[in-house]
Amino acid sequence: MKNYRIAAIPGDGIGSEVIAAGVEALNACAARDGFVIDFDHFDWGSERYKKTGAFMPANGLDLIRKHDAILFGSAGAPDVPDHITLWGLRLAICQPFDQYANVRPTRILPGISSPLRNVSGPELDWVIVRENSEGEYAGVGGRVHRGLPEEVATDVSMFTRAGVQRVMRFAFGLARSRPRKLLTVVTKSNAQRHAMVMWDEIAAEVAAEFPDVTWDKMLVDAMTMRMTLKPETIDTIVATNLHADILSDLAAAFAGSLGIAPTANLNPERTFPSMFEPIHGSAFDIMGKGIANPVGTFWSSVMMLEFLGETNAAARLMRAIERVTADKSLHTPDLGGKAKTTDVTRAVCEALAGDNG
Ligand code: ATP
Repeated sequence: MKNYRIAAIPGDGIGSEVIAAGVEALNACAARDGFVIDFDHFDWGSERYKKTGAFMPANGLDLIRKHDAILFGSAGAPDVPDHITLWGLRLAICQPFDQYANVRPTRILPGISSPLRNVSGPELDWVIVRENSEGEYAGVGGRVHRGLPEEVATDVSMFTRAGVQRVMRFAFGLARSRPRKLLTVVTKSNAQRHAMVMWDEIAAEVAAEFPDVTWDKMLVDAMTMRMTLKPETIDTIVATNLHADILSDLAAAFAGSLGIAPTANLNPERTFPSMFEPIHGSAFDIMGKGIANPVGTFWSSVMMLEFLGETNAAARLMRAIERVTADKSLHTPDLGGKAKTTDVTRAVCEALAGDNG
């Protein structure tokens, strides 16, 4: 029997509620499809930071380096500045584990309405690939003359040929694996005339390796209009760290709720574990109320199962999610319903158990 070791890091806020739900659903998948998942739980997050000055122990990466994957909740607390949390935990895992391809699928799930007029489902089926290791979030920059009138602060966007090439190859490959074989390369090379021009050039070079993929190029500002007005013309998208960060929040809003959206931080070469997480934050406003929507975590778990090669279990979990979202009595308050996290989780586990596909 196959056995996987997963590092579970709930993090802050509703992270512990949605990760508990995710662990329950994944265990139900394992029982249904005949494999075993051993979870190791890590209490890394803002509480630990406030007590000890560090989000995770100094040897934290070594503790999870050998795991098959990481299931992550969310990081962030109202009394800890966001940049401290992001660099102290999420990026402290993503960067050293070279999880350079951040994959964010967006679809309108059954039973959920999009705020976009005339979009009921099939018109919107996207996957955004976000460059996740450099670009605007490379961490290059600094501040001098702190607090003085002449203070200077810089954040330098840093793009490497190797970094752009690998994410382009990944995105073209992903576009090729989808029925429409259609990729949009998002850019801003009209205004950013160095790195973004190299980004475009490398896209064109890599495109030659994928003659069966149809691709086009779009300025990021125009892309927001196209996503809103012509969602059916889009399939796979590749964009820089910053651009994709923004576009994927827009995509999540179009899909009906931030609580649904999943993401995978992939190290495609599998040199290091990849990390799967809902895209929502800590949502302190609803913490402890039992109403966090666990669907983003379930969908992230589908991506994890796919990456592990458990394709039957992944498809079964996705079917269970869709069966549950189709039933409005199982919608949590973010979707306009009254259901609790536990109601949705129980329903997904029951749907899994009853799925003989
Ligand atoms: P962060 O800085 O940690 O990303 P944020 O405040 O920008 O946090 P979220 O924490 O994701 O963003 O919350 C944004 C809004 O979406 C909040 O009102 C929150 O309650 C809601 N929300 C986020 N995730 C969920 C979820 N899983 N279920 C229900 N509501 C959610």
